[in-house]
Amino acid sequence: MADVITPRARNYSQWYLDIVKEAGLADNSDVRGCMVIKPTGYALWEKMQRALDRLFKDTGHVNAYFPLFIPMSFLAKEEQMAEGFAKECAVVTHYRLKAEPGKPLHVDPAAELEEPLIIRPTSETIIWNTYKKWVQSYRDLPLLINQWANVVRWEMRTRLFLRTAEFLWQEGHTAHANAEEAEAETLQMVRVYQKFAEEWMAMPVLVGPKTDGQKFPGAVYTLCIEAMMQDGKALQAGTSHFLGQNFAKAFDVKFKDKENKEEFAWATSWGVSTRLIGGLIMTHSDDNGLVIPPRLAATHVVIVPLGKNDAERGPSIAAAEKLAAELRALPRDDFFGYDPISVKIDTLFDKQPGFRYAEHEVRGVPVRVEIGPKDIEKGACAVARRDVPGKEGKQFGIPLTGAAEHISKLLRDIQASLYNRAKAFRDSRIVTANTLDEFKALFPAREEAAEAGTEPLKFVYAHWDGTRETEESIQKEFAATIRCLPFDGPQEPGTCIFTGKSSARPVVFARAY
Ligand code: AMP
Repeated sequence: MADVITPRARNYSQWYLDIVKEAGLADNSDVRGCMVIKPTGYALWEKMQRALDRLFKDTGHVNAYFPLFIPMSFLAKEEQMAEGFAKECAVVTHYRLKAEPGKPLHVDPAAELEEPLIIRPTSETIIWNTYKKWVQSYRDLPLLINQWANVVRWEMRTRLFLRTAEFLWQEGHTAHANAEEAEAETLQMVRVYQKFAEEWMAMPVLVGPKTDGQKFPGAVYTLCIEAMMQDGKALQAGTSHFLGQNFAKAFDVKFKDKENKEEFAWATSWGVSTRLIGGLIMTHSDDNGLVIPPRLAATHVVIVPLGKNDAERGPSIAAAEKLAAELRALPRDDFFGYDPISVKIDTLFDKQPGFRYAEHEVRGVPVRVEIGPKDIEKGACAVARRDVPGKEGKQFGIPLTGAAEHISKLLRDIQASLYNRAKAFRDSRIVTANTLDEFKALFPAREEAAEAGTEPLKFVYAHWDGTRETEESIQKEFAATIRCLPFDGPQEPGTCIFTGKSSARPVVFARAY
């Protein structure tokens, strides 16, 4: 089982694909760039959805649903958005096929749409076209709406979960009476994403604005969360945009304020996608398979009863069932999203115990309990934690009385350990480049990079002159991009290491997914 997964040190990209496959998360489909999310992967997405949905509702948002199709003219109304998304839009031009005997199925040329429809790459335009009807007075504001949906962006280079042509996501679209409120919302939602990433996914993130060159098309500015994967590359894991009055002006969304003066509304939008599943895999998993932080695991505990024959298996199964019932009956709390602890009993006695253990390891079940005849004699069990593979992570002789509480505590401990480990890894790989030579040593030019070793990359703080030209030339030469201007990073002005011009503050460079 173990050598089904390519070790990270040998081939990191293959390791990722092996985990997705062996853990049963997703498959490539026969549709270009689109994946099939398998039940285990979808269960993980459902856990994420539930936790996020609660965080959104706790901050006053409600869910709604808007059409998949957007008339092309809507997209045309906001110039920056039209320009930004034009390159990756799927377009519907006909509404009927023709099936004629003896001829291949084909598009009916007589059924051409008067106006082409695009499949939403994001829903600002259709939503702001609707808000026009919903917003008349300041009393109609704020509108705090979220949508769970699929979107399509015709990506050329795709990768399971991280970048697909169709992906699942949520998109928040809010309308406010003034800029201050909309900006506060933009900040609040990126902090909600940070909370979800750190407290649920156990994935530490940098938080801050993107550069003007990297912001969302149509935004005044974009705030983001950026995570470091185990190869030292950055993953943009979530974005929150302050859209100013751009969409209100494009769609004529005006309201009368308290003084009866007409004003355009202020907008935000924010989203996270199934990309987060890729981020979760690449943050925690190891060469044995998937590692899932307990708060997002669909199965928290698997109990493996052991025994050579029915006489031995009977008591093991009975003890497993009793422990499972005790675990499920523990008081529910916020840690598990008020769900009961989810327990499975593995009764596949036909397979070797080692094979059964490896199977649960590959799938990332946070805690495995083994109960065999010798354990029964002692009234005990063995408990293995997935985040610490091998003997080190296994405790023998845990008394069955009180085992449920012990495991519940262990799950919380695993969650905290995963976060601390990921944070220590990331923090040890954040460095500063004070000169161009130091920068070059960290990011060899594109050609050399292909031959470079497997040593993980780093996040690099460096001074940049704030211009788009410099940003683009660095990207061309080093394949490194400015990930963000972290709120919590150093803020002192200095000198750009690329041009010698003045720099307002250091920014973070990384290679990115
Ligand atoms: P955006 O609307 O471009 O700000 O993206 C919103 C969220 O969707 C971000 O968290 C992105 O990481 C994610 N995202 C963007 N493009 C893709 C893609 N092709 N596949 C998966 N997730 C994506």
